[in-house]
Amino acid sequence: MKQNQTVAIIGSGIGGLSAAIFLSKQGYKVEVFEKNDKPGGRCGQTIRKGHRFDLGATIYFLPSIYEQVFSKMGLDVEDCFEFLPMETLYKLYFDDDSQLIFSHDPKVLEEQLEKREHGSYKRALRYVKKGYKFLEIGLCKLLDRNFYHPFQFITLNNLIQIIRIKGHLKHSFYIKRFFKHPHLQMAFTFQNIYVGQSPFNSSALFSMLPAAEIQEGSMFPKGGMHNIVEKMIDIAKSHGAIFHYSMPVSQIVTEDRQAKKIIFQDGSEHVSDLIVANADLPYVYKELLPPCRQAKRINKHQFTSSAIVFHWGLDKTYPQLSQHNVFLVDDYKNALDSIFKKHSLSDRPCFYVHAPCRTDSTAAPEGEDTISVVIPVPHLDKKNDLDWQHLKKIARQAVLDRLKRIGINDLNEHIKFEISHLPEDWESYVNVTRGATFGSINHRIFQMGYFRPHNRHRKYRNLYFAGGSTHPGNGIPLVLLSGKLTAERILNDHPNQ
Ligand SMILES: Cc1cc2nc3c(=O)[nH]c(=O)nc-3n(C[C@H](O)[C@H](O)[C@H](O)COP(=O)(O)OP(=O)(O)OC[C@H]3O[C@@H](n4cnc5c(N)ncnc54)[C@H](O)[C@@H]3O)c2cc1C
Repeated sequence: MKQNQTVAIIGSGIGGLSAAIFLSKQGYKVEVFEKNDKPGGRCGQTIRKGHRFDLGATIYFLPSIYEQVFSKMGLDVEDCFEFLPMETLYKLYFDDDSQLIFSHDPKVLEEQLEKREHGSYKRALRYVKKGYKFLEIGLCKLLDRNFYHPFQFITLNNLIQIIRIKGHLKHSFYIKRFFKHPHLQMAFTFQNIYVGQSPFNSSALFSMLPAAEIQEGSMFPKGGMHNIVEKMIDIAKSHGAIFHYSMPVSQIVTEDRQAKKIIFQDGSEHVSDLIVANADLPYVYKELLPPCRQAKRINKHQFTSSAIVFHWGLDKTYPQLSQHNVFLVDDYKNALDSIFKKHSLSDRPCFYVHAPCRTDSTAAPEGEDTISVVIPVPHLDKKNDLDWQHLKKIARQAVLDRLKRIGINDLNEHIKFEISHLPEDWESYVNVTRGATFGSINHRIFQMGYFRPHNRHRKYRNLYFAGGSTHPGNGIPLVLLSGKLTAERILNDHPNQ
């Protein structure tokens, strides 16, 4: 047992920050090394000409997990952020130009569902109740716990739980038990895309996503999602953690069963008792550690989709848009199969538009608008290289054409500037393997729980992982949990006094 053990954390994403807080709070001497000149990774921020953009995460989803993790940090999440109420959860737009508003008001939702399919509201409530139960079981049995050996995961009881939470059923199949109307089937399954997968090829367990949205609602932290990063850095610093930016790690030096030190791109070195890699796990195995069989195995995992993202600073406002807008197409299956099966992009893709000024006017100069568009696309694949500049053009035009149909005819003329991110940009900006920015490791049932790459290296017993590509998975709430679980594992393996 050692005192004041030193921990080097590679990366200042949410996973690294969560681990930094839990460990520094317990007296570990934490230093965070980030490759970029600013923190946050996929929860980063860019400000240009008074327009503020969240680079990745925009939806404050699953508030109960934020509350739980912050409370374990000894904090009340309500004291940490100023939450702005949102008029609606999101607006969905369909090909027949109809809209479905996911409102906080049950009456508004009931009226819209019943208009499409008689009896559907009652069934939606049942779907939400069941989906939320899946989340509660999933958190307790699968997500919010460390697995130290396979027999903690592979038990008869867990097998029964996996069947109970419909781990064995496809979401696209399961939804048909509740709704016949294709718009309703889409409205309650598109959320799979949040974790980079298709409802046609993923487990009905993920009905927990729309269920949680409806059950728990959503809010928006003033200043944007990046505010979470800023706050977490303040908390970690208050416990003594030290942050270093523009310090890309190029190697983790190992000896026998220990990770000895990290070497930076400029040749300098840092020695610590423990290392937590928040950088994408497959990248760390492949690029930072000595070659091993496990890296090859991890490379064979299924990876999530990627995204083309446009950030637009606009010189006028577009009140037609809500804060969160999802544009879906009638040929939903084909649009998703194009990405997930055919490794291409439909010329009429589904996409998401974020317009933060609807709740937070500080995101743009007065009388102007700030808009981000996320178009899911396949991840990078060397064997199946795509012409990304061409796909970017197709995606951009498809977005502009679709927006015209809701009366936004002149957007192109009002773009003051555009920032775009392609899969290769995600790969180079945060080192996420194959630009698979929603994972990177996919969340199929055999890549979750004990089957997901573990948060401790099998051989190097002082090397840990925290972030979306290890246990329990991707999305800020799960990544917050990941940092917490990794810290718990370190406390168990290497107690500090
Ligand atoms: C377009 C998009 C939309 C999203 N929307 C949502 C949403 O609405 N809600 C939600 O909850 N989640 C959302 N997510 C997911 C969420 O952003 C991620 O789950 C989360 O930010 C990942 O955090 P992380 O710590 O795992 O990884 P990262 O944020 O990638 O952090 C890893 C850090 O490690 C650094 N790093 C990498 N290599 C090195 C190196 N060699 N040396 C030093 N540092 C290194 C990186 O620069 C990065 O800062 C979205 C993601 C994307 C891309």
